[in-house]
Amino acid sequence: MTEQRQGAERDAVGRAWSELVETACRTVTDGLVVGTSGNVSVRVGDTVLVTPSGVPYDRLRPEDALGVDLEGRRVLGRLAPTSELPMHLAVYRTTGATAVVHTHAVHATAVSMLVPELPAVHYMTGVLGGPVRVAPYALYGTEELADHMLRALSDRTGCLLQNHGTVTYGDSLTQAYDRTAQLEWMCRLWLTATSVPGHTPTLLSAARLREAQEKLRGYGQQTP
Ligand code: 13P
Ligand code: ZN
Repeated sequence: MTEQRQGAERDAVGRAWSELVETACRTVTDGLVVGTSGNVSVRVGDTVLVTPSGVPYDRLRPEDALGVDLEGRRVLGRLAPTSELPMHLAVYRTTGATAVVHTHAVHATAVSMLVPELPAVHYMTGVLGGPVRVAPYALYGTEELADHMLRALSDRTGCLLQNHGTVTYGDSLTQAYDRTAQLEWMCRLWLTATSVPGHTPTLLSAARLREAQEKLRGYGQQTP
């Protein structure tokens, strides 16, 4: 590899690391996790940058950058990677994801204890590919949990982990983060609607959801 190319790769990794730290800090400031709970990763080529295990995000500096390959071998940094490496790597190995966000968002975690699937309560369910499944409980940081998560993620960009939290992925950290925020919001919405005594919330049909999904593809500003 030429020196110029190596320099460009180093810059890309540096930029991705600072975006990753920013996103991880946001999960705390937006109330989606407490303390060092949750974890974030971003893929740059064959390297996956991940948050270290049990380190407060606001303490992470550029020199703490931590990366592993798709087999989980450390290729950058000294800190121990997140205990949820099996979940993050499972997503990268099986999808075209660029970023993965895991949180313990409170409404989403509450829903994970109540039902096997968050139903289509709102058209924004389309952003996650449809009703959001709950992966059965398994101990944090295990291959078993990663397997359950992968099954729940089939044809979806997010799922809930029973008695644990959320996982979403996307083409960028911004997109993966936004999907988590939307998922948490929809869980809050469902809990609010189902808590009104004597009423059962209406849900969207599969056809209504498909229609919204189609339209969402063209949502916002389209680049010419
Ligand atoms: P880490 O600090 O090891 O990333 O663990 C946090 C977590 O959410 C485990 O599920
Ligand atoms: Zn967790």
